[in-house]
Amino acid sequence: MTESSQTKNLLKDHVIIDKAIEPNAGWRDLPIGAVIPKGGTSRQFTTGDWRTIRPVWSPEKCIHCHRCWLYCPDMCWVSEDKKIQGVDLTNCKGCGICANVCPTKVHAIEMHPEDTKTEHTAGED
Ligand code: SF4
Ligand code: SF4
Repeated sequence: MTESSQTKNLLKDHVIIDKAIEPNAGWRDLPIGAVIPKGGTSRQFTTGDWRTIRPVWSPEKCIHCHRCWLYCPDMCWVSEDKKIQGVDLTNCKGCGICANVCPTKVHAIEMHPEDTKTEHTAGED
């Protein structure tokens, strides 16, 4: 197979996959795993829907070291004027990394079950 026919086949596959990615698609419509058909597809999915536990932030304890902000894989922590303002849970998957990297002596983030009503979170619910 030549390089150009490989490219054409790849593009054809991506067009087919792309049509399957619609907001109401069921699991049978999902594309093959690990295939990213185009950039920006993460905007079509609110990954916070997956969450079963959520980070709960204590502003009284926080020393604004920004470790949570730095290590969160979904950029959920909101910072303004070098101060953490809270966490936007829209894309938070509840991985708990922020709670793990928060300094042990500070312990400003706790992971709570999703069905527990909590303060100091923002972005949904
Ligand atoms: S639980 Fe994970 S995704 Fe959610 S804010 Fe913490 S580090 Fe980010
Ligand atoms: S890691 Fe903990 S102490 Fe540091 S900014 Fe985040 S919540 Fe505050």
